[in-house]
Amino acid sequence: MTSQPEALPSRREFFNNIVVVERCGICMGPFDGTHQPAHIKSGKCEHTFGITCIRKWAESDQANSHMCPLCREVLFVRPKKPNFQPSGVRGHDNGTIWIHGLCTHDRAKAFVRSMWTVLWGLFQDDYQQNGIFDSDIEEHINRALNDLTDESYHSGLHILSEHWPGIRSVARCMIVKHYENGYYCGCGGEDLEKVWMPAISAVLEWELHSAPGEDDEDDEDDGYDIYG
Ligand SMILES: [Zn+2]
Ligand SMILES: [Zn+2]
Repeated sequence: MTSQPEALPSRREFFNNIVVVERCGICMGPFDGTHQPAHIKSGKCEHTFGITCIRKWAESDQANSHMCPLCREVLFVRPKKPNFQPSGVRGHDNGTIWIHGLCTHDRAKAFVRSMWTVLWGLFQDDYQQNGIFDSDIEEHINRALNDLTDESYHSGLHILSEHWPGIRSVARCMIVKHYENGYYCGCGGEDLEKVWMPAISAVLEWELHSAPGEDDEDDEDDGYDIYG
C-alpha cells in the first residue's frame, strides 16, 4: 500500500486531538496507583475507565454490562446463563422410586465426574431457549448413574427421593459453572476433590469406606455395598 500523506493532520491538529484523561468515566474519581486507567479500544469506543471499575461493570448482572457504559458500544459477547424453570417438571413425571448406593471413594468420584460430564449436555441452544427443567436435570443425572451401572450393582444405582432436591441444587451449581466456562472443560484437578465431592457427599450422606486413592479395584471384599 502507498502511504497517503494527505490523510495526516497538521501538527497543530495533532496536538489539538490529544486527550488527557484524568478521571474514570464510571466512578469519576482520579486515577492513581490503586485506580489505574484502562483504555478501551473496541469498535468505535475509545473510553478510559479505572481497570477495577470497568471490570466490575462488565462482570455485573446489568442488562447492558457487555456495552461501554458511556457510548454503549458492544464490547464482548454476553456470557449465557442457565434458564432454570421454577415449575420443575417438563410435562411428565416418571414416578420412579430411587435407592442410594455408593460407598467407596473412587466409585463416588467416578459418579461425580460422570455427573459433571453429562450436565454439560444442558449447555445447548434448545435448553438456553426453552429452559432447564428439574426433570431435565434428573434425566441427565440418571444418565450419569447409568454410566456407572455394571455387574457390581445388581439392582442399578438410584438416588433416594429425599436426596433429589439436594443433588439438583449441586447440579445447578455445576451447570452454572459450565455456562460460565462456555466450553466443556474436564472436571479434573482441584474442583472435583475440593468442591464437588464434598458437596455431593453432604447431599447424599455418603460415608465412604476408603480415603482418596485407596480403593483397590481387584479386591473383591472391598466391593460396593448396595442398600436402600
Ligand atoms: Zn473508577
Ligand atoms: Zn465507550
